[in-house]
Amino acid sequence: MRRTIENLEESKIREVANAGLGRPDVLAFWFGESDEVTPDFIRQAAVDSIQRGETFYSHNLGLPELRTEIAQTMSRKHPLHGNAQPIAMERIAVTAGGVNALMLAVQALVDPGDDVVAVTPVWPNLTAQPLIMGAHLRTVPLQPVNGAWTLDLDRLLAQITADTKLLIVNAPNNPTGWTLSTEEQRAILDHCRRTGTWILADEVYENLYYAPSAQGCAPSFLDLSVPEDRLVVVHSFSKSFLMTGWRLGWMVMPPALTVPMGKLIEFNTSCASVFVQRAGIAALQHADDVTPRVVAHLQACRDALVPALQALPGLSLATPQGGMYAFFQLPGAKDSLEVAKRLVREAGLGLAPGNAFAPEANGWLRWCFASKDIARLHDGVARLADWMQ
Ligand code: PLP
Repeated sequence: MRRTIENLEESKIREVANAGLGRPDVLAFWFGESDEVTPDFIRQAAVDSIQRGETFYSHNLGLPELRTEIAQTMSRKHPLHGNAQPIAMERIAVTAGGVNALMLAVQALVDPGDDVVAVTPVWPNLTAQPLIMGAHLRTVPLQPVNGAWTLDLDRLLAQITADTKLLIVNAPNNPTGWTLSTEEQRAILDHCRRTGTWILADEVYENLYYAPSAQGCAPSFLDLSVPEDRLVVVHSFSKSFLMTGWRLGWMVMPPALTVPMGKLIEFNTSCASVFVQRAGIAALQHADDVTPRVVAHLQACRDALVPALQALPGLSLATPQGGMYAFFQLPGAKDSLEVAKRLVREAGLGLAPGNAFAPEANGWLRWCFASKDIARLHDGVARLADWMQ
């Protein structure tokens, strides 16, 4: 077996979840998904597709209808991209989930030994993928300031040199809720143009943004870039459309990457499932019936959970402006994994350990607040409060 595979760590989040397996009394907030089922009309689109007999392969890069729909959606959201040119459907690849898009991008861009920089804390898959490819990974940690994780921009830019092949950045961020400002994105993009570094921007939480914004989404590298920039932006149907189990995502890439990416998809999945792609078309065509409601509900969840946590003694966290997580340090907690397992065993509360996302986040816990029933969040806080006493 390849050494990079042998060295893969088990997911710490999974380790905590395993501790609660078969216990219906556990309130689980450990995974990054809502407990609400995908809307009916999206499910129906997949059923109709199967009934029509659409059980065959599609193009490697996805159904042209879906790629067109995605390109139009992205062009509407990012009207300034490419000096106000619409995003061409040829620059879209449909993938089996956002995670597949991320892995494909890393496979396409990174050689063994390449220098890769990632901003952390971050969803562990983003740091595992370059390691699987044998890259030399360096991380630039955000700094917790009064419970809010913030970027030291100068420090990040100083770490990106002409030898750096790829910068990986996820904003809105899982787990911290940190978001990038347009000014920071501009500075990063300009710097990476100078060093020739690729940017892999994980923007799967783009729509889950609670600060006022003209486009109703978080600032994106697409707002500032041109098609030829060394930039791959990754998206997903999972969070905005309640479609985690469907495995459907996409990337926007420079035109020169399209042909190699098609080949690479052939050797990975060949294509995303066709009836799932049909569901994706329905989702995007009626996005206004789903996403604003999902985001408004998530905001209500955030506004219920965060102040309740802030009221607990010794616990400080900033209100996240994006994503679907509250990320906080428990007073006195040293080993997140141990604490998270104890919370499952002793309080029936399932949270993700902070050290799954970066060693510097040891002592922190992540709480996914995407809960259909907001009362569950209050129950969870009551369990945490009792346990802390
Ligand atoms: N990127 C981030 C930061 C995530 O948190 C996730 C899922 O939790 C993904 C990408 C991938 O999502 P999916 O593969 O479900 O599209």
